Amino acid sequence: MPKPVASENSANTSSCLDEYDPAALSVDSARNKILEAVAPVSGTEQLALRQTLNRILANDVYSPMDVPPATNSAMDGYAFAGTDLELAQSSGLHVTGTAYAGRPFQGKLTTGECVRIFTGAILPPGTDTVAAQERVTRSNDAQPDVILLDSTTRSGDNVRQAGEDISAGDCVLKAGTRLQAAELGLLASLGIGEIHVRRRVRVAFFSTGDELRSIGEPLEPGMLYDSNRYSLYGLLSSAGCELLDMGVVRDTPEATEKAFALAAENADVLITSGGVSVGDADYVKTTLDAFGQVNFWKVAMKPGRPLAFGKINNTVFFGLPGNPVSVMVTFYQFVQQALRKMMGETFTQPLIVRAVCQSRLRKRAGRFEFQRGILTRNNEGQLIVSKTGQQGSGILSSMTRANCFILLPETMTDIEAGMEVEVQPFGQFF
Ligand code: AMP
Ligand code: MG
Repeated sequence: MPKPVASENSANTSSCLDEYDPAALSVDSARNKILEAVAPVSGTEQLALRQTLNRILANDVYSPMDVPPATNSAMDGYAFAGTDLELAQSSGLHVTGTAYAGRPFQGKLTTGECVRIFTGAILPPGTDTVAAQERVTRSNDAQPDVILLDSTTRSGDNVRQAGEDISAGDCVLKAGTRLQAAELGLLASLGIGEIHVRRRVRVAFFSTGDELRSIGEPLEPGMLYDSNRYSLYGLLSSAGCELLDMGVVRDTPEATEKAFALAAENADVLITSGGVSVGDADYVKTTLDAFGQVNFWKVAMKPGRPLAFGKINNTVFFGLPGNPVSVMVTFYQFVQQALRKMMGETFTQPLIVRAVCQSRLRKRAGRFEFQRGILTRNNEGQLIVSKTGQQGSGILSSMTRANCFILLPETMTDIEAGMEVEVQPFGQFF
């Protein structure tokens, strides 16, 4: 039975007037403005294969050779000429030698003969078919041994043709590809030991707030440990950035100005957390207003409403909200794609799937909500999702328990259990 789909038109306008802000940017338009404003960094370097893990390929790669380089056996069995098939199934073939992987059979075959062959061994000249050993009866009544084939093998069976995976000259990887395990293996299979990759994007980041303490310091009343720098460290490292961790910057005009100037000199991107809310006592906004190229946005989303974006000289600046969940949500929705574009990576949009919601979700119209969910399959194989408890923007455990965002677009209101919702599984950076 089709499940009722959560309606995007049933906005309960009376309950959300206080939240509706006509000046707020939609998530999509904020993302598009950001993506339009950033460009790939220039510069490449040549690295040894292992060092290129999670780096972005600078040029197309063409194969210098066929893969596999020679026609070889896909099975342990017996190699023979397909024209001898009938003979092999009626009176049998003489076994005149053995071909091992890495040790080819050196002799010549004539009609009525075959060679014992192992997986990966080069097919001896004159053969084009391999009978799996399970399909064969071998007897040593005659010398040399004779094999008799059952009726299931056909001419050409169980053979990997030279170049069937890759032909010499084929473009095997496109510039802009992120090099991961499969790519490393593929390049190794072509004997390519050094690769041209894009230089890494240099990202400076710091936390703002007089209430923040670093690990190891005592917590006086009203203080809390700086967690955002650690989440950002994880997100940025997984993304493959070069990091410049600038610590916690105190809420004074001097400290804030100094930190911005240092980051602008040394990094392609600066990411801060905290101090971007309206009416904040922090100095991020006042300091940046003087630079003139930074916009302070209200984005119609939850969590993550306040967001600053712009440039400080040539450095791209993201002022993320202070709340720990907001940092991760805004990073995922805005920063990650911008970084990938700056890295020169060709990327696709994050996957979105539909799942039946198991929880009742409170949702106000007028903002895009990113609730944290657990996506699984039920016994019928259907995708189901439930929320991870309390959804406050400071509750980081809602992220650690989650494996996806439940996407609740602006016009949607409360979701009842059993309705279908859209879900964005966490990508590789979580
Ligand atoms: P702000 O945007 O600076 O007003 O911060 C919003 C909330 O997030 C406040 O409750 C802050 O204490 C908290 N917060 C800001 N920065 C951090 C951080 N680096 N680690 C943990 N919590 C933070
Ligand atoms: Mg603050």
